Amino acid sequence: MENISEILKWYSLSGVDEICADSPQNILAVGADHTISAEVKRRQDITRVAQENAAAVRPATTLLAQSNSEALNNAREACRNADSLEQLQQILSGFEGCSLKFSANSTVFGYGNPKAEVMVIGEAPGAEEDRLGKPFVGRSGQLLDKMLASIGLNREENCYITNVLPWRPPGNRTPTDAEVAVCLPFLRRQIELVNPRIIFLLGASAANAVLDNTDSISNLRGKFIDYTTDTGIVIPTLSSFHPAFLLRSAAQKAKAWSDLLRLRRKLYGK
Ligand code: URA
Repeated sequence: MENISEILKWYSLSGVDEICADSPQNILAVGADHTISAEVKRRQDITRVAQENAAAVRPATTLLAQSNSEALNNAREACRNADSLEQLQQILSGFEGCSLKFSANSTVFGYGNPKAEVMVIGEAPGAEEDRLGKPFVGRSGQLLDKMLASIGLNREENCYITNVLPWRPPGNRTPTDAEVAVCLPFLRRQIELVNPRIIFLLGASAANAVLDNTDSISNLRGKFIDYTTDTGIVIPTLSSFHPAFLLRSAAQKAKAWSDLLRLRRKLYGK
């Protein structure tokens, strides 16, 4: 039983989160029947009809998601009206300009102390975050909590944790530039409202989105780079490896540890 749950977990982490037939088919086997089975075809038909129906009942939202520049203008305009994190969260919940919203189960907003000294920003919710509606609650989140605790930080007292995207990309795929662009006004407004002393950026996606560059994380990590909000507040950022990457590449943990020590020194001078 334990093995089965491990296999399912592994499938899920690999992006296999949909069942298309009742029994497995080895399409690589010599002499295998490569034609689509009646069952797979039946399910494809059901999916197609469901998608057509969804489009029929959401004409306005679908059109909005299709028009990126219009959606971006709507996002900017909506964010300008948010005077608190609660208001921003409400506006985000009603925002339909990013098609990721329609495949996700939850809109995952930031979590933690709204007056935190440190704002931690990741890429996007994964399966567990999408299920529970909170950022960084899966395996990466558990490692992140340990990393923060090692320098006296935690999400209840002195950190606020959020993501560039509030919706999980299907199968945890990398977000597109258009998806990042349309969600960025919400993140920028969150940064302004929290107004932390320092921003800790996890992984290339978060670092590139916030710093508006295309540098590799190996190049960016460990450096303090200023970020300027739309209202002109300058906040230092520090980039480091994403915990999901550290789970796969334990050898890089030493560099992440040296980044954490730099973060602590910047905050507390020791
Ligand atoms: N990875 C992220 O970037 N964010 C989460 O919330 C979870 C995993």
